[in-house]
Amino acid sequence: MKAITVEPKKPGTVRFEDIPEPDVREGSVLVEAIAAAVCGTDVEIAEGKYGWAPPGKTRLVLGHESLGRVIDPGPSSSFKKGDLVSGMVRRPDPVPCPNCAVGEADMCRNGQYTERGIKEIHGFMSERWRIEPEYAIKVDPSMGILGVLLEPTTVIIKALEQVLAVGQRSFWEPKTLLVTGAGPIGLLAAAVASLAGIEVHVLDRHKTGPKPDLVRALGATHHSGSVLDIDFEPDVIVECTGVGSVIAESIQKVGAGGVVCLTGVGAGGIATRAVADVAAAAVLKNNVVVGSVNANKRHWYKANDRLGRLDRKWLSRLITRYEKPENFKQALERQPDDIKVVIQFSEI
Ligand SMILES: [Zn+2]
Repeated sequence: MKAITVEPKKPGTVRFEDIPEPDVREGSVLVEAIAAAVCGTDVEIAEGKYGWAPPGKTRLVLGHESLGRVIDPGPSSSFKKGDLVSGMVRRPDPVPCPNCAVGEADMCRNGQYTERGIKEIHGFMSERWRIEPEYAIKVDPSMGILGVLLEPTTVIIKALEQVLAVGQRSFWEPKTLLVTGAGPIGLLAAAVASLAGIEVHVLDRHKTGPKPDLVRALGATHHSGSVLDIDFEPDVIVECTGVGSVIAESIQKVGAGGVVCLTGVGAGGIATRAVADVAAAAVLKNNVVVGSVNANKRHWYKANDRLGRLDRKWLSRLITRYEKPENFKQALERQPDDIKVVIQFSEI
């Protein structure tokens, strides 16, 4: 079968090539790939900045945002042939640490977890893949191709759950939420938050075009420019850019008793404010900065529900480009108008 593979840590090594059929040891459920969405992590792996091949192998099958159709449910699963599924990404570490032991591998303590398409397990960008039944999540067939947005939605569900958990440390009735960055994660965060009835604002560098339109279509308010120029102090800021200056401004801008949740991973950049100044702003207003990554099964369950409640037309506008797997190069290249790029392996 064909797969999109890469030699991790070596830029320019992505290929669409023949590899053996998936090994039954990878899971008893055999799935035909429908689609895999591309995210920033995939681009970073393709650029040689990140990623690990399975032990003893030099190449890794890319892809962790999946949608597929069950071909063979295997001997002991609740799936039927034809069911739409998406695969969970992270697997617990082998020790396991306390969090992995209780089913919260998203909170792994020792870093020895593995992740499909990222860290030591093949991903989902192959014509067929196998998965353990307990890590396959059934997708509502009426979602169609939009089911490929389930994985990024799980990341948002976890982040918002973290915000709520932190907020419970004192009396807290958050009224306003600001999302920084209108990429797929930022837009999905705004959409999911708006379901909760909170007043949603989104800040992004684009003043016009599809992103501000998508924000307004949610009934949310669009801002551009600096976080510091916003005319109110948000109770919650969900930071989705990973840009140092935006992070520092968010910590400064969030209201007293507020929570800044970091979901974006950036690197370096120029520190625009000294760390001690940023810390002082947090101390004097009892603010919390919380990082959030990945998601466990509870978040996948909730994400399925929330994604199903969002407007399908709005969701379909998030997917701005479909590419064939053989055009992996174009798929992994960021273009200015891209929101979400989806590699389609077969018809839905
Ligand atoms: Zn662990």
